[in-house]
Amino acid sequence: MGRGCCLAVFPWCGGDGMGSWRKSYAAYKRLVNYRDGAYASGFAKDNLRNLLSAAVVVGGALLLDALVYALTDTVNYVHMVPIVVLILVMGLSSAAIVRFLDRPFSTQALIWIRNIVILGLLAGVDFLMYGELRIAGSLYVYTLILLVLVAVPNFRIHETFLILLWLNASILAFVQLGLVSFPEGQVFINPYRYMVFCSVISLAIAMRRHIDYLLLVRQRTILKTASETDPLTQLLNRRGMEEYLKKRDYRWNVCLALFDIDDFKSYNDTYGHAAGDACLCAAAECFREAAEGCDAVAVRYGGEEFILLFFMANREEALHFTNACLEGMRRRQLRAGYLAHHRYVTLSAGLAVSEQPLRQDVEQCYALVAQADRNLYTAKACGKDQCVG
Ligand code: GH3
Ligand code: MG
Ligand code: MG
Repeated sequence: MGRGCCLAVFPWCGGDGMGSWRKSYAAYKRLVNYRDGAYASGFAKDNLRNLLSAAVVVGGALLLDALVYALTDTVNYVHMVPIVVLILVMGLSSAAIVRFLDRPFSTQALIWIRNIVILGLLAGVDFLMYGELRIAGSLYVYTLILLVLVAVPNFRIHETFLILLWLNASILAFVQLGLVSFPEGQVFINPYRYMVFCSVISLAIAMRRHIDYLLLVRQRTILKTASETDPLTQLLNRRGMEEYLKKRDYRWNVCLALFDIDDFKSYNDTYGHAAGDACLCAAAECFREAAEGCDAVAVRYGGEEFILLFFMANREEALHFTNACLEGMRRRQLRAGYLAHHRYVTLSAGLAVSEQPLRQDVEQCYALVAQADRNLYTAKACGKDQCVG
């Protein structure tokens, strides 16, 4: 069981010379844990949606199946009524749950809902497999279920394994309990060998589907993070701030400080743009330090303009952290450019406090930015290197 074998099982994780099972499994775990919380809630939601669509697909297939039986007179039309009702209930309740999912659930709650749906579906699947085996003694429904299981819901590898174990164990239990039996002489392949064969293939396909899903999640997260982060300072950019605001739960008034580097044009003209970029990074470091000390988020709003959004601070506390940023910049003692107002590079800031708790819309935030901008203008007019608000 060497490198080749392990690459055959984890080809997606092992592309970069991962030669051992341990390393390949570690690479798989890293994919699963990618950005932990976001992955867990996204996965539970996607998985639940897929499960429900699988339920609708299976329901539709069974409905067609029953219709064909009815048309060929094998099933009485009267028997069609409960089948149609059952499938309609399945479809409508799936649609209702999918709509319900748009509400903000905690990750834990989502995982619980998902587990309950899986248990419910497994019970339904057992019932269907039992019915099919009892009536026809065939593994037709079992095969269909495996097909849907590997194609639609993208379970994690160990979950697929457990579900396959459950399905196979259920059939074995039905046979052992004498509830069903495979008709002697009529089957062209030993049903147990067939079950092992189908299970191994299903596991392989489901694994591939799940790892493809993980790679997609990673790709999506990388793109999303890149589009919401300023590449120079690694702070959130404006789009990142908007996304952050939409996700944030507000119960307190919000304070917003808008910063601008003083005489930055002169700094660029004196030392060049590369030095200007380094100065922007130094300023970003001040905001990051301040944001770490309280519940705040730092944003590069524009060229040399930055925002600190304070969530649980009152005006005095916000003012304290804003002044700490100004002091942090002074302490860095970066020689200011030619004809600058001060000896070292300094910051000016305007502070604004929301009158009421911020809702999850960005318009209200931009109204605060406008208010802070007016204060910033006053700070500049009053000699720079100060906060007004
Ligand atoms: P004030 O004190 O009134 O703010 O004067 P100022 O010179 O800082 O203001 P102004 O808005 O005239 O200058 C902003 C400068 O910021 C102009 C632009 O070249 C520079 N800038 C914007 N983005 C970047 C960047 O990413 N890197 C560098 N090096 N400079 C930038
Ligand atoms: Mg400016
Ligand atoms: Mg400036």
